[in-house]
Amino acid sequence: MFRIGAHVSISGGVAKAVDREREVGGNCGQIFVGSPRGWAVSEVDEDDADAFVEAAGAQDVGPWIVHGTYLVNLATPKDDLAAKSLDTVQAELDAAAALDIPYYVFHPGAHTGAGEETGIQNVGERLSELDVPAGVTLLLENTAGKGTTVGTHFADLDQMVAVSAHDYDDLGVCLDTCHLYAAGYDFTTEAGMAEMIEDLDATIGVENVHYLHLNDSKHPLGSEKDEHEHLGEGEIGEEGFRRFINHAALREKPMVLETPEDEKGYAWNVEKARELRDEE
Ligand SMILES: [Zn+2]
Ligand SMILES: [Zn+2]
Repeated sequence: MFRIGAHVSISGGVAKAVDREREVGGNCGQIFVGSPRGWAVSEVDEDDADAFVEAAGAQDVGPWIVHGTYLVNLATPKDDLAAKSLDTVQAELDAAAALDIPYYVFHPGAHTGAGEETGIQNVGERLSELDVPAGVTLLLENTAGKGTTVGTHFADLDQMVAVSAHDYDDLGVCLDTCHLYAAGYDFTTEAGMAEMIEDLDATIGVENVHYLHLNDSKHPLGSEKDEHEHLGEGEIGEEGFRRFINHAALREKPMVLETPEDEKGYAWNVEKARELRDEE
């Protein structure tokens, strides 16, 4: 079954996220468990968690994924920032477990001048310090390559996993289409898509990609800029998404939207994704 949803708010209680998902026509979804631009992670209330699990099960909305705060930086050369980041990632992982959510995704961070190799090494070593709860897979998100961010290429993400004491049982990858395109992966052509899947297979392995972020890109191929656009209205375009959404290696994976929250909204984008999806 096509699993498509959007990033929704948990305000008023996590169970409300399930209703919000249904309102935009989604059947899986993503949430934050704290402020996306703060360090604090909300304590998960047990009744609230029960209500969420029950609502998600009853309405068949899932799998869910928790997105980590944007402040986290495991690539940093600064030990204090790394320590703070690890505390927050651990709290977010624990919140995912408390909510029975199988995936947690975060952006690896930026090396801020220490060098890309050092940044990748830092992420790998710090991942080792995390206790990944049973039932949760920690996903690294590919980045657009802006500034000194690390994790732009498949081999870089694979290297982080190789360095860490964890393996692909606990870790995995979430691919964002806007970031892929901005990083220079042109999956909009048949040859480009074949090359990208080949690269994926030679590094991370397609089976270790557990979730997909569907966002069009405001900026051209290889621009390294991270600005999302509505599906089909950016540089990737409708045909690019048709190719991505239906590809045999990707079509069974759950997909969530992080498109602009303007008057079009998520409902329009969920509808667009369904329109581009070929019959099973
Ligand atoms: Zn993200
Ligand atoms: Zn982005």
